[in-house]
Amino acid sequence: MATVTRERAPTGGQPAADVLAALAAGILGPGCSPEVPARVLSILDQLASRRDREQLLAILRLAGTRAGALALTGHRKPVAGLSPAEAEAVVQRWQASRLGVQRQLAAAVTAATLTACYAWPGPAWTRIGYPGPLGPAPDVPKRLHPIATAPGEELACDVVVVGSGAGGGTVAAELARAGADVVVLEKGGYASESDFSHLEHEANRDLYLYGLTLATTDLGCRILAGSTLGGGTVVNYSTSFKTPGFVLAEWAKVSGLDAFVSGEVEASLDAVAERLSVTTGASRPSPRDVLMERGLARLGWHCAPLPRNVRGCPQHTGCGWCGFGCRLGAKQSTLRTYLEDAAARGARLVVGADVRRVLINDARAVGVEARVGGHRLRVRAKAVVAAAGAIETPALLLRSGLTGQVGRHLHLHPGTGALGTFAQGVRPWEGTLQARYSAELRGTLGEYGPILETVPLHPGTGAVGMPWRSAADHRALMDRYASMSLCASLTRDTTSGRVRIDRDGNPRVAYKLNGTDERHVAAGLAACGQVLAAAGATEVMSLHAERHSFRPGRPDAFEAWADATRRAGAGGGRLTLFSYHQMGSCRMGTDPATSAVDGDHQTHQVERLFVTDSSVFPTASGVNPMLSIMGLAHRAAGRITAHVG
Ligand SMILES: Cc1cc2nc3c(=O)[nH]c(=O)nc-3n(C[C@H](O)[C@H](O)[C@H](O)COP(=O)(O)OP(=O)(O)OC[C@H]3O[C@@H](n4cnc5c(N)ncnc54)[C@H](O)[C@@H]3O)c2cc1C
Repeated sequence: MATVTRERAPTGGQPAADVLAALAAGILGPGCSPEVPARVLSILDQLASRRDREQLLAILRLAGTRAGALALTGHRKPVAGLSPAEAEAVVQRWQASRLGVQRQLAAAVTAATLTACYAWPGPAWTRIGYPGPLGPAPDVPKRLHPIATAPGEELACDVVVVGSGAGGGTVAAELARAGADVVVLEKGGYASESDFSHLEHEANRDLYLYGLTLATTDLGCRILAGSTLGGGTVVNYSTSFKTPGFVLAEWAKVSGLDAFVSGEVEASLDAVAERLSVTTGASRPSPRDVLMERGLARLGWHCAPLPRNVRGCPQHTGCGWCGFGCRLGAKQSTLRTYLEDAAARGARLVVGADVRRVLINDARAVGVEARVGGHRLRVRAKAVVAAAGAIETPALLLRSGLTGQVGRHLHLHPGTGALGTFAQGVRPWEGTLQARYSAELRGTLGEYGPILETVPLHPGTGAVGMPWRSAADHRALMDRYASMSLCASLTRDTTSGRVRIDRDGNPRVAYKLNGTDERHVAAGLAACGQVLAAAGATEVMSLHAERHSFRPGRPDAFEAWADATRRAGAGGGRLTLFSYHQMGSCRMGTDPATSAVDGDHQTHQVERLFVTDSSVFPTASGVNPMLSIMGLAHRAAGRITAHVG
C-alpha cells in the first residue's frame, strides 16, 4: 500500500483529508466508513501525473478555507465543516458546473470515493450481497525467479526488453529461443497464483498501471492496463481473437507493408495461438453471457463463442475473479507461457524496474537506465525492445528524446454499455470472464462498427460506472447491483489520441472522440439496450452521467431512450467510457512522416531500438488485441535477431 501522509493545511484551512471526509459523506451518505478519506488519498497517490495530484490536493485544501470555499461552492463555510446534505449539494453543483475544472473535480472525487467504499471489504459488500474473494489463495510454489540487483550494478546482454506483457513476454521468449542473451525489465512486481488475494482494491493497486487511476486528461475515458510481471495478460479476460482478415488488409494498406497480407503475420498468429492453447471449448457462458446470448437470439442477431487462452479450467463460479489473477494457473498468460519459455532458456527477469530512458549513442540504442526501488540500474545491450504498452512505450521514447510520430495515433477502443436489471439474481462479478460476442453491428455499420461483449463487474469498478446523482440514488442503484447485467459495446475507433509526457516524464493522454466514433458509440450503446430489453430486463440504463433509463414493454420506450442517449453524447465525461485496449501510439509503416517504426519494428529515428507491443498497430484492431500483439511480437523476434546477429 502506498503510504498515506496526512496533508498539511494552509494557514486557516483544513487538511485535504478533512475536506475529503466531508465530501465522502455527501457522496456516500451519512455513516460512510471513516477509512474512506485515507483510502481516497492512497488512490490519489497513484496518479500518473504528480502535477495532477498536487493540483487536486491544492484545490481540496483551498476548499477547506473560507475564501476557497466561497470561490468553489459559493458559500463561506469551509467544505470540511459541511453537513452530508450540504456536501452532496456541492458535488451536484460541481457536476453541473459550466467550468470544466469543477466538473473534473466532481468526477475525480466521486470516482475515488466510490472506489474507496466499494472496492474494500465492509458493510457495502454485505448490503449488495458481494461475497468478496472465495477463500484464500492456494499455497503453490512460484515458477519464475526474478533476479535481484544491487545499487549501481550494471548488467550486460544481447537484448534488453522493457515490459513483460503480451508483446514483451512473447518477444523475450522467441529471442531467447533464437539464442540471444535476454534481460526483461518489468515495472510491476511478480505476483503469481499464491499472491492473488482477489481483493479488488489490492488487485487495482498491485496489478494495474497506476493503480487503475489512469484516464484521459479530460477524464472522459478511464484507461485500464496491467502492470505486473506478465502485464495485461495476467489480468485480462482471455479472449483470443486472431486479427481479422479485413484488419490485416487495412494494416497492409495504411503501413505500406506486405507482411500483413503475405501470410507472414498469419503464420505468427497461428504459432502464438497454439502456444497459448486457444480454444472455444472453455467458453461456458456466465450468467451475463447467458442473458446477452438470449437477447441476441430473440433479436435474431449474430452471436458466437469467444476463443480463449485457458487450459484445464473447470469454469466454476470462481472464474469471475481471475481478472485479479487466475489462482488455478489456467489462464495462459505470459507468466504461464512465454516468460517460462524465456526463463528456461536463460533470460533474466527483473521486477520493480521502471525504465526511465533508453541509452542512445550516435543514433543507436546501447541499453537502458531504470529505477529499481531506490537505486539506478543500467543494462547495456546490443538492442533495446520497448514493450511497455501503448501508453508507456511512447512515454519512454519521448523521455529518451525521440520525436516525430511517437505518441500520435493512439486508439482506445472506447467501451461503454448498458446495465439491465433482471428479476433474478445475476451476480455480474461471477462466471467466465467473457464467453460470447456479437459482431451484428459490423453488418450494418461496416468494419468500424462496435462489437458486443460482457465483462465481469466487481463492485468497485461497477460503482464508478454507475451514474452518481445523489447519495441516496447511487445507493439505491447499488442495492440492486446483484440483479444487474452488463452488455458492453467496444468501438473500433478512428479517433487519434496522443500520448505526451508531463514534467515528471510520466504520460498524459489526450483523446477527444470524433463525430464518427460518437455515432458508433451511440449505436453500440443502443444495441446493448435492445439486447438487454430482449433478454427480459425490467429496466435498462446507460452509463451517462445523467440518468437515461427505460422500462422495456412500454410503447416507444426503447426508441425514446436510444434517441435521448444519442443526443446526450459520449465525449468529455458525459458518458462513462472505459479503455481496456490501447493501441497505435508508435505505429508501424514505411513512411517516417506517418509512422514511428518500420517493418522490422525498428524506430525510424534510432537504430537497434525496437517496439513490439500494441503501440505498433497501424489502426485499431477492432477485436480484443492480445493475440494480434503477440503475433506481431513473434514475427518481430525474427527481424530483431537478423539485426543483432
Ligand atoms: C482488464 C483487462 C481485460 C482485458 N481483456 C482482454 C481480452 O480478453 N483479450 C484481449 O485480447 N485483450 C484484453 N485486454 C487487453 C490486453 O491485455 C492488452 O492489450 C495487452 O496486454 C497489451 O499488451 P502490451 O504488450 O502492449 O502491454 P502490456 O501487456 O500492458 O504490458 C506492458 C508491461 O510493461 C510494463 N511497463 C510499463 N512501463 C514500464 C517501464 N517504464 N519500465 C518497465 N516496464 C514497464 C507494464 O508494467 C506492463 O507489465 C484486457 C486488458 C485489461 C486491462
